Amino acid sequence: MTVERKWVVKLNDVKAVTFQCARANCEARITVSPTERNFQWPQACPMGHRWEFYETERRHSRDARFLIALQDIVTAKDSESGFNVLLEFDEPKA
Ligand SMILES: [Zn+2]
Repeated sequence: MTVERKWVVKLNDVKAVTFQCARANCEARITVSPTERNFQWPQACPMGHRWEFYETERRHSRDARFLIALQDIVTAKDSESGFNVLLEFDEPKA
């Protein structure tokens, strides 16, 4: 018998977001909590590589739009839509 185990996470359960630098040979990380007051997105990695949050002057990047939505969800008291969004992941392999 095969047993598959999944992790199911409600977006409201997110406690931290880790930004990882995408530059080759860097991959430095910064972890922040979207529920903290005065939450601010890091503008650069710890090695000083600048991170962009806009595609154009007026349009946020795809990742920035996700962060805006996530921050809105985690700081809201209750769902106004009548449903919760759950994310499902395979259990990490040991
Ligand atoms: Zn970097």
